[in-house]
Amino acid sequence: MKFTYLKNVTTLQLNQNKCSGCGMCLEVCPQQVFSMNGNLSAIVDRDACLECGACAKNCPRQAISVRQGVGCAYAVLVDKFNLKGQCCGDTCCSLEDYRKES
Ligand code: SF4
Ligand code: SF4
Repeated sequence: MKFTYLKNVTTLQLNQNKCSGCGMCLEVCPQQVFSMNGNLSAIVDRDACLECGACAKNCPRQAISVRQGVGCAYAVLVDKFNLKGQCCGDTCCSLEDYRKES
């Protein structure tokens, strides 16, 4: 299932001038936001971005920026993939809080 998000609000930015075309962002993005355009990554579904930060964190060229902190999105991913106890972000939210509210 691909989540959708509010339109035109994501802070996701990609600087293709820094991109090496390694494809890491395509691998880590749970929302298929990126695609390869020739030898460079391109944003193809910006509004699907959940601002989880995985792409920016794993880009070896610092070509991607996104304002992390959408705790509910992270909690949904943790819950969906049963990743409790694993954290890839710097701004962890409380999964217990998410569960109480849902
Ligand atoms: S991870 Fe960074 S360098 Fe690699 S393809 Fe994506 S934007 Fe380009
Ligand atoms: S922040 Fe997360 S959802 Fe958004 S493009 Fe990056 S990896 Fe995909």
